[in-house]
Amino acid sequence: MTLKPTIKIFIDFDGTISSKDVGREIFLNFGNKEIAFNILNDFQNGLISSKNCWEKLIENTYLISEQDLNKIIDDIPIDSSFHRFVDFCSREFIDIFIISDGFDFYIKRILKRENLEQIKFFSNVLRLKDGKLSAEFPYFNPDYPRFSNPKMIHIMDNSSDDDFTIYIGDGNSDTESAQYCDLIFAKDELLKFCEKNRISFYSYKNFDDIQKIIMKLLSRKRLRKSHRAYLKRKFAYEAE
Ligand SMILES: [Mg+2]
Repeated sequence: MTLKPTIKIFIDFDGTISSKDVGREIFLNFGNKEIAFNILNDFQNGLISSKNCWEKLIENTYLISEQDLNKIIDDIPIDSSFHRFVDFCSREFIDIFIISDGFDFYIKRILKRENLEQIKFFSNVLRLKDGKLSAEFPYFNPDYPRFSNPKMIHIMDNSSDDDFTIYIGDGNSDTESAQYCDLIFAKDELLKFCEKNRISFYSYKNFDDIQKIIMKLLSRKRLRKSHRAYLKRKFAYEAE
């Protein structure tokens, strides 16, 4: 009898759990729209890092009230299949983590609204004081300068080489970190990146699709780990 490895799932927040990119909505709503668009485009095209992008967007925001900020956040729904997925993972004793290049301010608020506060998350920090937004990047690491919150660090900190790791994401902030996991579920930008770079993945529309595939995996005798993820992790450890 082979012992089944522990499965750990790492999930992006904006556009993956939330139906829209909440950070993007906030900065497009509370700043000069044209400037905000240009900053977001520069980031999309790889001209600026995500930390730089957030800093410039914050600089571009007007004075805002907490009420207005909360209103924007409260109007953004999450993917309704996520609730079923969380229940499924808890029945199967699968640990899930949210890793986000966005901000705690809205992740915390949305998880609370959805009664999902028990889920652990790692993100940047956004504060509102006297109408001014400010950000902190507690996980910024100069070894990964492209990211304000290098997600691979949380993947490595919260899983061992013996675990079977799964990544779920949709965007540019997921392309590098997803490769540290054994299995990737991708849509949108992440899907395009995986296709272009010949990285194997499952495409998904919602969390029900993901649950079906994971159920199939659970019925298998053994899970094949990713050699790419093994190498990524190995090099990261050696670089430390
Ligand atoms: Mg995303």
